Amino acid sequence: MLKVKPPEGYPPEEGRYVRGNDYSPVAVCVILDTFDFAIPPELNELVMVSVDLGAALSGMLQTENIGLEKMICNIVANPNIRYIVLCGRESAGHLPGESLLALKENGVTETKQIVGTRAPTPHLYNIPLELIERFNQQIVSVINLLCQPGEKDTKVPGLSPEVIKKAVGSCYQEESVLFMGYRLHDIGAYPEPAMCYKIASKLTRSQEDILQPGKSKLNMGFMLHKLLPKTDCKRCGKPTCLAFAIGLAKGKSRLEECPILDQPEFAANRQALAKLLE
Ligand code: SF4
Repeated sequence: MLKVKPPEGYPPEEGRYVRGNDYSPVAVCVILDTFDFAIPPELNELVMVSVDLGAALSGMLQTENIGLEKMICNIVANPNIRYIVLCGRESAGHLPGESLLALKENGVTETKQIVGTRAPTPHLYNIPLELIERFNQQIVSVINLLCQPGEKDTKVPGLSPEVIKKAVGSCYQEESVLFMGYRLHDIGAYPEPAMCYKIASKLTRSQEDILQPGKSKLNMGFMLHKLLPKTDCKRCGKPTCLAFAIGLAKGKSRLEECPILDQPEFAANRQALAKLLE
């Protein structure tokens, strides 16, 4: 069975995930349904049991745009990953779980908008189309155990460590097994080289190339917006991330006013923003 060593620089994107067995056929995606700093312990446990049991990557997905883009980058950088176990509770505001399923089911438009999701901003602007297409070819199945928003019962499949363990274990089998309606076994690595793509460095480079003295503050605001979390959560006191970005461009807002940028998932973006604002 084909297995490959992931390239140097894998996984290219930082975030709220744990790296496990590089040769594993499965990654686990736990939806993070809160923007509080304290992560619910039951979600942390799902991440940890998955990686203990041998998932290649196990982590949280919070947003339907930048979060999903980072996940795609990390997965196509390891051709051994052929399955994603989707679990946790759907995040009612952003619908990242629905967006992942819609991406796998329907793909994206020419302008990289995910088809068939009700998520407010399901745009994958920061990664090339070929990366998205490769993701959809490499991943044979998203095993959907996602719970409804607000679910508290940790015995339901999407919040149960035991069920997640079984899902991960099923992906490892040499012979095909049936798990909750999915036929699963380790089919080996995707037979094309890894694609290693880092969003923050591309953005930083292109913005440094584009931003010239004399460009309007509004244009600069649009550039900065690409690096913001795009949650429109209003915690910075602005109605949208774009309004905050324009405030940054005009020197009327400060990066410290966006608490979401302090989260590890956005560390590289924050660094790039600070560099641009220097
Ligand atoms: S910029 Fe403002 S609206 Fe956007 S994520 Fe940060 S705090 Fe929320």
